[in-house]
Amino acid sequence: MIPLEQAQKRIFDDVTVLDVIDVDLLSARGLVLAEPISTVEPIPPFANSGMDGFALRAADTSGGSEATSRRLDVVATIAAGSVAPRPLEAGEAMRIMTGAPIPEGADAVIMVELTRTEGDVVEVLAEAPVGNHIRPAGDDLAEGIVVFHPGVVLSPGHLGILASIGRERVQVYKRPRVGVFSTGDELVVGPQRLAPGQIRDSNRPTLLALVEEAGFEPVDLGLLVDDEVLIEAALTAAVSNGTVDALLTSGGVSMGDFDFIKRVLGRLGEMNWMQVAIKPAKPLAFGLLGGIPIFGLPGNPVSVMVSFELFARPAIRKMMGHVDLHRPHVIAMADEPLRRSPDGKIQFARVVLNQQADGAFRVRSAGGQGSHHLSAMAAANGLAVLPDGEGVGVGGMVRVMQLG
Ligand code: AMP
Ligand code: MG
Repeated sequence: MIPLEQAQKRIFDDVTVLDVIDVDLLSARGLVLAEPISTVEPIPPFANSGMDGFALRAADTSGGSEATSRRLDVVATIAAGSVAPRPLEAGEAMRIMTGAPIPEGADAVIMVELTRTEGDVVEVLAEAPVGNHIRPAGDDLAEGIVVFHPGVVLSPGHLGILASIGRERVQVYKRPRVGVFSTGDELVVGPQRLAPGQIRDSNRPTLLALVEEAGFEPVDLGLLVDDEVLIEAALTAAVSNGTVDALLTSGGVSMGDFDFIKRVLGRLGEMNWMQVAIKPAKPLAFGLLGGIPIFGLPGNPVSVMVSFELFARPAIRKMMGHVDLHRPHVIAMADEPLRRSPDGKIQFARVVLNQQADGAFRVRSAGGQGSHHLSAMAAANGLAVLPDGEGVGVGGMVRVMQLG
């Protein structure tokens, strides 16, 4: 058995970042930026009003109050998207809308709620200090600065800034297309009655969903029977037709008589066949076939998810340009014992993590901890990391990987 970190390092060292592509903004959400972004103009581009109200000179409002209003002549109306017809003079006001440019000569805005209008005269019922409700040019972002560095994961807010500075396309790392195969003679799909010995393929929908949740593009490659020739043909075709950037298989990597995935991959590619010191998900095959990383994940439904989380997800995140590869971890207090026995492995217990009102995390078991207990995996929102030993008792502290 090899330690978890060693297995992870071997895999992460072997995968390389995918190509940089040029995409339109609406396709860029969730992708990793591959170029520095600089502002070419200030944002906002001009001083503008933060309120609907009146642009005026602050000095003209001096002493203004409900009882002692200041009367100013309203000489123009400035809508957002238009500009004042002429500079503002002393004793004047211009009606101004949110986002409209501040006219030359004005140094403050009073909001409409603090005024009364009578015909072409506005009564100002409060003092407006200089700069009141004015959003200066460049107040958000100055001109000529780097706003985003490569490695930023583009969120809706980032896309808003890119649009604000006139960018229509952006350079990002490609979204990895991840092919998913299930293997096993016992597997069927659909609602029909199961023949003796059959089960339904649950790993494929699970993996396809995990792939999509991770922000990769899932590619369903179907079911493979336990036939060495067919498996070899299918894997070879999948890596050579240019439709996937990474491949996931489940099943067939264990010690059984019909575990052909391991054998085929060992023959075709540079495969690492690993027994990782973790439970669940001890067996793992990993290697490159035609330059495409292949993750031979175990078959048991819980193992396949844990193996995806520990190996495939972070490695494919690296391919996608992510700097931060792993799920977040928190420290939580056990509300019930999370027991295990010493076996030289790190155990990952399926748990339900709750955040208390004070922000502290509590954790309890999500149910049966067998590698076939998919019900506990479905109920879990975390994997408690139990180092080799006896586990933790009530009140003990444990590190928990948060799941999506
Ligand atoms: P294997 O590693 O192929 O021996 O599979 C280990 C266990 O996982 C066996 O009980 C298989 O029936 C089960 N298994 C393998 N693949 C799947 C799948 N796609 N869906 C559900 N169970 C599976
Ligand atoms: Mg099998």
